Amino acid sequence: MALTKKDIIKLLETEGSNPDALFKQSHEIKSNNCTNTTWLRGLIEYSNICSKDCLYCGIRKSNGLVKRYVLSEEDVLSATKYAYESGFGSIVIQAGEVCSEKHIKRIESLLPKIKQLSNNELGITLSLGEQSRDACLRWFEAGADRYLLRIETSSKDLYARIHPAGYSLERRIEALRDLRDIGYQVGTGVMIGLPFQTIENLADDLLFMRDMDIDMCGMGPYIEHRDTPLFEFKGTLKPVSWRLDMTLKMIAVLRMLMPDINIAATTALQAISSYARDKAIYAGANVVMPNITPMECREHYNLYENKPVCDDLSKKTNDLGLFSQGNSLHFKKRTRK
Ligand code: SAH
Ligand code: SF4
Repeated sequence: MALTKKDIIKLLETEGSNPDALFKQSHEIKSNNCTNTTWLRGLIEYSNICSKDCLYCGIRKSNGLVKRYVLSEEDVLSATKYAYESGFGSIVIQAGEVCSEKHIKRIESLLPKIKQLSNNELGITLSLGEQSRDACLRWFEAGADRYLLRIETSSKDLYARIHPAGYSLERRIEALRDLRDIGYQVGTGVMIGLPFQTIENLADDLLFMRDMDIDMCGMGPYIEHRDTPLFEFKGTLKPVSWRLDMTLKMIAVLRMLMPDINIAATTALQAISSYARDKAIYAGANVVMPNITPMECREHYNLYENKPVCDDLSKKTNDLGLFSQGNSLHFKKRTRK
């Protein structure tokens, strides 16, 4: 659907019971574009070791209170087996950003084992931060299918305010272009309700995703973490209910702009309300990512506060897409696969 920036701002500003009409419309668009099945991705939080210091994130390098871990190969493969046997179409391997050759090699050797264990049926998404083009190429050749790299915000000013000096939005955009060029299904996303963020910033984020022609999106509310520098702005934040409603509106408008991409109902929504994920699916999301990290490590992967440790799928989530990778239709069309 063609929407101008002005249209988008107006839709994001609707309040009270008015968003219901927006959600009804985005729900219909989702249904009419064969994205009515909800695909499952098993999320494996591979490691909380990170070389970066993003000002919002609970597992940032400088947070000395975090007990750091890396999963063993056996842990990853047993979680993979669980996902495969449960009929999940794919898994996501997520971790803090580490760029050492040792790390690159470990992932590179894991990928074919995951494929082999699942008879080549499981899709594999990586979410391992900003890496060199060469590392991304090696992982792609070893079997990874998709890559998730959120830009966090498309505003250069806001990006600079939520990251330490020297982190560059341009470099992140370049990394997204490399991933697409290599042949990945590419996902990005933003945080919603960040300090200093405006509705205009959020409208620009949606237009950025449309212009980048992304295949997948995962966006969710910003949730403050007390052991991070950004916590000092807690008093300026919008209430969590606002951040939840705004996330739902962002999902709805993105579904209108990009009817055939995969949109995730993210875990951060769950941290706010147990019904949030169902609401997001109604508003236009078609992917959920149940956490399948070994239980004893989950409490140490605290990107934000109140991150849920248990993650049961709602009985209301119907039309589950089992035993299929659930690739982005947008990706299939643009690559004619
Ligand atoms: N290190 C990788 C992947 C792990 S972090 C990377 O940064 O790309 C995954 C996502 O968690 C980030 O992209 C960010 O959007 C989200 N995140 C981090 N801190 C958060 C917070 N306080 N509230 C909400 N989401 C957060
Ligand atoms: Fe590391 Fe990702 Fe957290 Fe940034 S958001 S500190 S890169 S884990």
